[in-house]
Amino acid sequence: MRVPARLISAIEGTDYSAVPTRRKHRPARPPRSSPTAPTGRWSVQHLPAPIGGPGRWVIHHESCWIPTGDADLTLDQALHELTRPDSEPCTTCDARHLPTP
Ligand SMILES: [Zn+2]
Repeated sequence: MRVPARLISAIEGTDYSAVPTRRKHRPARPPRSSPTAPTGRWSVQHLPAPIGGPGRWVIHHESCWIPTGDADLTLDQALHELTRPDSEPCTTCDARHLPTP
């Protein structure tokens, strides 16, 4: 409920000291260092291809919900993996922010 302040008057004998009179400010989100270069570790997931195909490699950030095993690649290594013609960044995690060649 929102009421203009002029319509409000204190009731005698009531203690209002516990009533908040200021809005609580939400804590500001910490700024990301850079939207194009997420920090953390990376992993590479091999997706099997149909018979005879080479398959595909998908790069994941360690925060990805897709279980990919140990994320032990540095950002540089992840970027290097992305230079392979049959690799691609995951579209659901921070890997999608990686610059693709
Ligand atoms: Zn992912």
